[in-house]
Amino acid sequence: MQTETAHKRVDIHRNDTVKVLSGKDKGKQGRVLRVFPDKGTVLVEHVMMVKKHMRPTQRSKGGVAEQESPVSLSKVQLICPNCNQPARIGHKIHGDHKVRVCKKCDGDIGGKKSARG
Ligand SMILES: [Zn+2]
Repeated sequence: MQTETAHKRVDIHRNDTVKVLSGKDKGKQGRVLRVFPDKGTVLVEHVMMVKKHMRPTQRSKGGVAEQESPVSLSKVQLICPNCNQPARIGHKIHGDHKVRVCKKCDGDIGGKKSARG
């Protein structure tokens, strides 16, 4: 019997484009700003904007600023950069590293990892 690891594998990376599947921003698409694998959430540009009240400082007058708030990974779907459609993600082994591929068009989905680490 196979045992699943406690952590969900996160197939969405920073700078991916995702589509929001539910909530007030349903249907919106945006770039992933941050991924929080532990929480299973992502921060998507211009999605789930919340108003933050800023205290006046010497540099600004304060007031209300808008800021993204995290969205559950289950509420977003990766958009394939090749076919521009919501993609089911598969994996392929290229040499000694795994790349993400779109199950629709079979194209590679980004996944550029920095050389470090
Ligand atoms: Zn595709």
